[in-house]
Amino acid sequence: MLYDAIIIGGGVTGCAIARELSFYDLKLALIEKEEDVCSGSSKANSAIVHAGFDAETGSLKAKMNVKGNLLMPQLCEDLEVSYKQNGSLVLCFDEKDRPALMELYERGLANGVEELKVISGDEVRQIEPAISQNVVAALYAPTAGIVCPFELTFSLAENAAANGTDFYFNEAITKIERKDGHYVLNGKFETKAIINAAGLYSDMIHNLLCEDKLHIQPKKGDYCLFDKETTGLVEKTIFQLPTAAGKGVLVTPTVHGNMLIGPSATVLDDKDNTATTQADLDMIISTAKPSVENIPLNKVITSFSGLRAHEKGGDFILKESAEDFFDAAGIESPGLSSAPAIGQYMAEMVANKYNYKKKTEYVSTREAIPCLREMDKESRAELIKKNPLYGNIICRCEEISEGEIIDAIRRKPGAVSLDGVKRRVRAGMGRCQGGFCSPKVMEILARELKLEVEDINKNSKGSNMLLGKMEVK
Ligand SMILES: Cc1cc2nc3c(=O)[nH]c(=O)nc-3n(C[C@H](O)[C@H](O)[C@H](O)COP(=O)(O)OP(=O)(O)OC[C@H]3O[C@@H](n4cnc5c(N)ncnc54)[C@H](O)[C@@H]3O)c2cc1C
Repeated sequence: MLYDAIIIGGGVTGCAIARELSFYDLKLALIEKEEDVCSGSSKANSAIVHAGFDAETGSLKAKMNVKGNLLMPQLCEDLEVSYKQNGSLVLCFDEKDRPALMELYERGLANGVEELKVISGDEVRQIEPAISQNVVAALYAPTAGIVCPFELTFSLAENAAANGTDFYFNEAITKIERKDGHYVLNGKFETKAIINAAGLYSDMIHNLLCEDKLHIQPKKGDYCLFDKETTGLVEKTIFQLPTAAGKGVLVTPTVHGNMLIGPSATVLDDKDNTATTQADLDMIISTAKPSVENIPLNKVITSFSGLRAHEKGGDFILKESAEDFFDAAGIESPGLSSAPAIGQYMAEMVANKYNYKKKTEYVSTREAIPCLREMDKESRAELIKKNPLYGNIICRCEEISEGEIIDAIRRKPGAVSLDGVKRRVRAGMGRCQGGFCSPKVMEILARELKLEVEDINKNSKGSNMLLGKMEVK
């Protein structure tokens, strides 16, 4: 089959582009090297919808961030994604740092961020009582928000699939040839145009075709995630003044009521090394402590890390870099916030070049999987009456039913692994981190996918949870 366009990479960038391009009349596919979308940087980040004051004025990062922030609330409503406009604070602990705070404020204004203001230490503590007494001022950005990065990425993919986009998994693109004016990927996928959204590997894809070489440097960020008992300790996202290494360590609520601290910023060579280290975890804890008093460290339920895709130029690369080859490369932070804008920008770039028109009929909304935990008693009872599997609770911490897990597996694209289920419906995301529900989720996966339970992976190929059956004599 000859595609009009193939997107390489199923992170939030690739899926946002896929959704927007799926509104146009063209034959579209997305190819992902892992077994599911949302398997790269999009699965492990701070989940902040930044207001847009960090990036250099005039940069693509600044433009995409500010526009993405504006588009995000409506997008999340259309796709039924968890989002909250909770606002953010950048804390200033010393009068001598006030010029740096004012610089951020001025940059925010120049970038077009609305409602920004600098407030006093007392005003900060009035709106966030847990903030340290040592804070003298803060930059308050009411337009900042928090989003569920998993739901966002899955919903974008589902919406693109609903409009006819083909998805291919477990297919790492390693070879691209030019043949009869088309591209051939891995010797088998033919397409007129390629869109490179391969995250940490977007340099490798770009360098297969382009003279000017890119170099993506992975930068690891470790996090500690807290139990929901910490809900309400902070309502806003709490930053410190940025450093040369990035936006620094933050303390933030998540849309699901946990608290998150992190990330570190450790330069690595290995693009697949997401192991947390004691040194990085110690660093984020000691750095977060001056922001918020009495962080309850005994409530940490897990730690994890994500890898930023830093390109030496420092800005997003969004352009046609070779004939019919479009880059969406170097998408480090604020890539999540920017995804709605990058999706539109890249889709328009491709559609304009080939003069694609919007389809007469397409869907731009998507229904979320029912969430029993958030329903009132009557709605729960009604759903369980229709399908009793919604009454069988599998994950006790997050109250996730068998019905929801089956929905996650049957979605298109659907979950095929434990983490795929976890990221779609939160089974295994709670206090016990899957200690109780994992075996049951594996059985459901095996039954639905018609596999042996030994074949079920935690996430990528070869991460089987079970090695085989023991013989009992
Ligand atoms: C620690 C950390 C904190 C962050 N915090 C924030 C934040 O709070 N707010 C914010 O806006 N942004 C944040 N970001 C940035 C944001 O997470 C990223 O910009 C965004 O997720 C990038 O999405 P992506 O789709 O470009 O990349 P990815 O999500 O990495 O997706 C790329 C995909 O391409 C696939 N792929 C790679 N090579 C190939 C190949 N050869 N063939 C096929 N597929 C391939 C990968 O498997 C992957 O699924 C943070 C990032 C990190 C790491």
